[in-house]
Amino acid sequence: MYASVIIDQDAKAIDRVFEYIVPDGTRVCAGMRVVVPFGARVVQGFVIEIKHDCSYDPSKLKKIISCPEDFAVIKPEMLELMKFMADKNHLKLASVLRLFLPSEMREGKVRELFATSCSLYEGEISLSKAAVKQQEIVNYLREVGSEKLTTLNEKFGAGAVKALFDKGFIIKEKVQLVRSPMSSVGQDKKITLNPAQQKVLDTVCEEGVYLLHGVTGSGKTEVYMHLIDRELENGKNAIMLVPEISLTPQIMANFKARFGDKVALLHSGLSAGERFDEWKRLYSGQARIAIGARSAIFAPLDNLGIIILDEEHDSSYTSESNPRYFTADIAKFRAKYNKAKLLLGSATPSVESYKKAKEGEYKLLELPIRANGREMPKIQIVDMIGEIRAGNSGMFSSQLLADLAKVVNDKKQAMIFINRRGYSSFMRCRDCGYIAKCTDCDVSLVYHREDNRLKCHYCGKQFKVPDRCPSCGSENIKHGAVGTERVVSELKALFPGVKILRMDNDTTSSKNAHQKILDEFKNSLPAILVGTQMIAKGHDFENVVLVGIVDADQSLYQTDYRSTERTFSLITQVAGRAGRSEDEGKVVLQTYAPRHYAYKFAANYDYKGFYKKEENIRQTASFPPFSRIIRVLFADSDENYVRDTLKVCYNEARLLKEKYAGQIIYMDAMKSPIKRMQNKYRYQILMRVKLDRADEIEKELFEICDKACKNSVFFEVNPQNLS
Ligand code: ADP
Ligand code: ZN
Ligand code: ZN
Repeated sequence: MYASVIIDQDAKAIDRVFEYIVPDGTRVCAGMRVVVPFGARVVQGFVIEIKHDCSYDPSKLKKIISCPEDFAVIKPEMLELMKFMADKNHLKLASVLRLFLPSEMREGKVRELFATSCSLYEGEISLSKAAVKQQEIVNYLREVGSEKLTTLNEKFGAGAVKALFDKGFIIKEKVQLVRSPMSSVGQDKKITLNPAQQKVLDTVCEEGVYLLHGVTGSGKTEVYMHLIDRELENGKNAIMLVPEISLTPQIMANFKARFGDKVALLHSGLSAGERFDEWKRLYSGQARIAIGARSAIFAPLDNLGIIILDEEHDSSYTSESNPRYFTADIAKFRAKYNKAKLLLGSATPSVESYKKAKEGEYKLLELPIRANGREMPKIQIVDMIGEIRAGNSGMFSSQLLADLAKVVNDKKQAMIFINRRGYSSFMRCRDCGYIAKCTDCDVSLVYHREDNRLKCHYCGKQFKVPDRCPSCGSENIKHGAVGTERVVSELKALFPGVKILRMDNDTTSSKNAHQKILDEFKNSLPAILVGTQMIAKGHDFENVVLVGIVDADQSLYQTDYRSTERTFSLITQVAGRAGRSEDEGKVVLQTYAPRHYAYKFAANYDYKGFYKKEENIRQTASFPPFSRIIRVLFADSDENYVRDTLKVCYNEARLLKEKYAGQIIYMDAMKSPIKRMQNKYRYQILMRVKLDRADEIEKELFEICDKACKNSVFFEVNPQNLS
C-alpha cells in the first residue's frame, strides 16, 4: 500500500503530493498525521490518499516512520474542502491543512491528541519478589486509581510499565484531559419568540442559504439560539460565527448559559492549550456547537445541521493574510456537503449578499422591528462646517456638548464613537468640505506620510499635496484623524469628576482588559465610554441614552469602493447601542458632508433605500459586485528581483487583454501605494474585470504569476484594503 502525503512545511518547492510506502501491519488512512523521512530530515505530513499503486519507482520510495494517532485528525469532509480552497483561492495545500488543526498539532509538533491512562486490573495481582519497580507501580496505582502512561513511564521507567501491561495487570484507556476556558456562567433568560422571530424559525427548515435582515435589537441572537437548539434535538451539530471584535464575553456567557458544555469556544483570547482542548471536544463530539471568529468555520464537527454567520457584512470574515479566504465561501461548501442550512444575519447586509437575496440565490428573511417594541433612537445630523462658521472649531458640536451635559446631569451613560480604521487618512478642506479625489476613479485619495503624496489605491496615480483648497482657495485643508486619547482628555477637562473610559486597541491588549473596561462602565453612573469600532457592536447597556459619532466621515472617505457601505453600516450599528431599554435613545452624528446619502439613509434607518442607491453607483462605476478586482502583490527584499518579476508577469498578462477582449475594464502594473513594508519592496498588478469570464481570467493570471515567482504569490480578490 502507498500513501499520498502532503508535507507540513511552508515552502513553495515542496507544495505537492509525495508518495510513501505504508509499512506492513501499519494501519494508515486518509487524514492521518504521519512522520516521514524527507531528504535528510524527519518531518510531519498528512496522508490525503491511500492507494494500491504508486506513480514512481517503488524501490525509490521511503517508508512512513510512524503515526502520532491511530485515526484521521483531518476528516474526509475537510480533505474535500482542502482541494476546494486550494483551487479556488490559489493556495498551497499544506497552508490550507494547517487551518484545520490547532497550533499545538502543527509545524511538526507531535502532541498526543488523547492521553493514554493506565489503571489496575481488578483481579488478583501476583508479582515475584524481584519485581520491585513493578510492585511500586501497583502500589502507586492502588493509591491514585489511574495515571497517564507518559507519567508512569517517567516515574518508574517504561520497562516496568510494559512488563505489567504484558502480564495483563495494567489496563490502558484513551482519555481526554480538558482545560475549560470559561468559568463564570450567567443565568439563562427563557424567552418566547415573537411572531416575526417564529416565522424566521419556521422558514429556515431546509437546506439552503438564508439572509436574515434584522434591525439592531430585533432579537437575532435569540433566533440563532432557537435554530441551534432545534438542530441539536435532531441530532445535528452547529457552527456559529461572530466577528472577532464582537466576541464579547456577554455573547459567550449567553450561549454557555443556554447550552452548557455542548458549546466550545474558539477565539484569539484562548491560550494554545485551551484552543487545543476545545478542538478535541469538538472532534470527539463531546461539544456540538462551535462558536468563534472566522477560523471557527474549520471546527472539526461532522453532521452539521446549521451554520450561522452573524454580522455577515463584517470585513473580518475575509482573511487578508495568507492563506486568504472568504469565510462565506467555506460556509457554503460545508453547508452543502452536510446538506445543512446556512444563515447569514445582519442589520446591514453587505451589498453583495443583498443582491444575491434579491436575485433569489439566497432566501431573504426580515425582522423589521425591535424585539422589545422600542423605537429606534433618533439620529441627528450635525453639520460641522456650520459649527466652524458659528465660531466653534473644537471637536464637539454645541449640540453634542449640550446632550452630554444632560446625560451627566441625569446620571445616565453615553458612548462616544471615533471612526478609525487602519492608518491611512484622506485630505479634506475644513472650510468647504472639499475632498481630494482621484481624477480617474472617483475614490478619495490617501495621504502617504512617507513620501508626502496623495495616492489612488485603485489605479496607482499620485498627486501633489495641495496647500490650498482647489475648490474654495482656503488654506485650511488638512489630513489626519482625531484619536481616542485626545477625545478623552478633552472630555475630562469638560466634565471633571465624571467617569470617562477609553476602549481601543491600546487599552485592550492585555487579557481580560476588554471585560474590565466594560464592567467598570456598566457600574458607573454617570459615565462616558470613548472607543473605536470595538464599542460599535453587540453591547447591550440599558443606561446608554446617548451615542455621539465624532468624525463620521473617517470611514466615508477611506478610499475604497466599500467606504460608503462601511460607513452606513457602522452608523447603524453604533446607533443601535442607544436606548435599548426604558429610556429613549439619541444619536448625534457629526459630519462635514451632512447631505451625503449614507447619512441620510442611515438617519432614517432606510437600508433598502441605501442599498438601491449604492447598487446603482456600483453598477455605473463597474465596481464589485458588478465586477471583480484582482491584485497580485509581489514583495521581496531585493527590489530588482521584484521589478523584473513584475515585468515578466505583466508582459504576459497583457496578452489576456486580447484574448478576453472587452472583459478587462482596467489593468496596470505599478508600485504598491505603500511601496516598502517590513523591509520588502512591493509591486503589484491591479486588474478590474467583468464577471462573465472572471474565473478564467483570474486562473490564467494566477498561473502566469505563479510560474514566474520563486516564492508563493500573494493573490487577492476584492481585497478589503489596497495599501
Ligand atoms: P440583535 O442581535 O438583533 O441586535 P438581540 O438578540 O441582542 O438583538 O436582542 C435584543 C434584546 O431583545 C435582548 O435583550 C434580547 O434578550 C431581547 N429579546 C429578544 N427576543 C425577544 C423576545 N421574543 N421577547 C422579548 N425580548 C426579546
Ligand atoms: Zn475648500
Ligand atoms: Zn485612480
